Amino acid sequence: MIADNDDLKALIRTIPDFPKPGIQFRDITTLLLDGAGFAAAIGRLALRIGEKPDLVAGIEARGFIVASALAQRLGCGLLLIRKDGKLPGETIAEDYALEYGSDRLAMHVDAAAPGARVWLADDLIATGGSARAAARLIRRAGAHVAGASFIIDLPDLGGSSRLSEEGFPVHALVAFEGH
Ligand code: AMP
Repeated sequence: MIADNDDLKALIRTIPDFPKPGIQFRDITTLLLDGAGFAAAIGRLALRIGEKPDLVAGIEARGFIVASALAQRLGCGLLLIRKDGKLPGETIAEDYALEYGSDRLAMHVDAAAPGARVWLADDLIATGGSARAAARLIRRAGAHVAGASFIIDLPDLGGSSRLSEEGFPVHALVAFEGH
């Protein structure tokens, strides 16, 4: 799943113990600040996508950055999957488990046409809880999840394997060990 993207990996900064002790925060802001690196990341994610989807769906908040750039690159629309309570229209929502407690993602019920092919995007996949909740939302809306792209995978947390088991391709550019 991981090609040779060491140039991009070098642009991602690791902040230890953020937002709490023991977490190695993989910070993409340093990659985004590098114009060539940001463009290369989006270009390489786009190259892995075969048939053009109808929509790219981004998970709030950093997923919006990846998904909007990818949607522009592919020439398709952008679907926003937001924290519950933020979208103004009629929504459907899905809960997912966090290490402590749970969170809820929502999308506009009419955002995707029935049968639309939707490609999911976020900056990073860890446990896969948020991506799997987003995939459930897309299917509940009557659309089809065509695949998912992430800049970073944390394979030790198992999210990318779990998401792959749902039967669509899951791509990431770089992997980091641990949490
Ligand atoms: P998960 O739902 O467990 O796959 O978590 C993925 C979401 O949490 C992504 O939107 C990431 O932005 C964020 N996240 C989780 N772990 C990290 C980490 N170590 N560094 C940066 N972001 C993280």
